[in-house]
Amino acid sequence: MHRLPSHATLRRFRVASLLVILMFLSAPAALGFIFYGFIKGEHGWFAIAGGVVAAGLIFMVLNLIMSGRLRCPLCMVPSLQNRRCSKHKSAATLFGSHRLFVAQSILFKGSFRCPYCGEPTAMMVRERGRR
Ligand SMILES: [Zn+2]
Repeated sequence: MHRLPSHATLRRFRVASLLVILMFLSAPAALGFIFYGFIKGEHGWFAIAGGVVAAGLIFMVLNLIMSGRLRCPLCMVPSLQNRRCSKHKSAATLFGSHRLFVAQSILFKGSFRCPYCGEPTAMMVRERGRR
């Protein structure tokens, strides 16, 4: 299992994973607020839904900025970005998204499998100078 080069990279992977999950949660949350606003007939909920959509867009931009540098230690492709390269044949998805699957496994399992090369990486820093 591969490991990450530094604690800063590890932290960035966790923050970017959180951003991916928040980004994916914002769309159903906004739809929920709109639906609730329609049922209740209160227009205040639409403003909240608009705020949630805006927050989702901010999370998307922050994730684009952050995850570009977070590369798989083996194939060097950003694992939390949707590149148009072909995926590994056994790459798993969550609700049809490879990114979401990688993000949830980083946060909840402490490791991830790169969707492009299929190699597992532990959320640990590699030790230097020891063989
Ligand atoms: Zn890889």
